[in-house]
Amino acid sequence: MTTEAVLAVDIGGTNVRLALVDATGNLLADWRATLHLSHVQSETTMIDTIAELLRPTLRKHPVRAIGIGFPGFFDTSRGLLIASPNLPYIHNLPLAKLLTTALSVPVTLQNDALCAALGEFHFGEGRDASNLLHITLGTGVGGGLILNGQPWTGESGMAMEFGHTRVHPEPTARWCGCGNQGCLEAYASATAITRMYADITGERLDAKQVQQRAREGDSLAHALWTQAGSSLGAAIAQCVVLLDIHRITISGGLLGAWDLFYPALHNTLERVVISAQRERVSVRASRLNDRAGLLGAAILARLSL
Ligand SMILES: [Zn+2]
Repeated sequence: MTTEAVLAVDIGGTNVRLALVDATGNLLADWRATLHLSHVQSETTMIDTIAELLRPTLRKHPVRAIGIGFPGFFDTSRGLLIASPNLPYIHNLPLAKLLTTALSVPVTLQNDALCAALGEFHFGEGRDASNLLHITLGTGVGGGLILNGQPWTGESGMAMEFGHTRVHPEPTARWCGCGNQGCLEAYASATAITRMYADITGERLDAKQVQQRAREGDSLAHALWTQAGSSLGAAIAQCVVLLDIHRITISGGLLGAWDLFYPALHNTLERVVISAQRERVSVRASRLNDRAGLLGAAILARLSL
């Protein structure tokens, strides 16, 4: 059965999700692995590390193709990984071609958030939409855009750097890892929630623990989730006003805090979006339980066949 399956891979900071996916989007098997790409110091070692991770699976399950969601900017027309925010040694790397040679199976790669957008568009809350803005909320904030059913990568593969939308123009706004100030990611990511809580209290909690504190009545924790929601709402409103896009979906590890951030997100959209567009906009939580990225990677793999 698995010879008809493709291997879908969603590579994150240290965690990798893998699945064998059939033609109708069923996950025949899925599992997790760790991959410490931040410890890798060269392009060659990175390719070897990814190939080594996938070889045991390919020996057990001879798949027809592999699709990979990867945190980076891809120039799909030239088949290049242009750059990856946490891997500074990467520059215009033909990663798909090199992995295809190393593994003797066709490999296709795309930006991880765009993969999640593809998965959500075909199998999730975007199924009945023509256009979709998908947001991934986790360690960082990512975005993927589907226009007229097709992924929009931008002219140089860097479209929808949603986490770096500037939502706080004030001079005291928080600094972002990208070097700019006031980015959405500095307010609405797991990293941001942890940092802001620690900056004020001196106590270092992860985002789940800050959720718990908010539910127990901690007013600071509650205020941080409200601020995350209003910041997200402001960024989404900019996209709605510019693109006239109606369906917005959100996936990722912070979805568990939906009840804490969504009211402020909704209120901000109501306030900022032009009234003629307001009623048409629908922001929905993904129900794919974080499988959006894997399903998108499977679609990529099938497109290569
Ligand atoms: Zn930024």
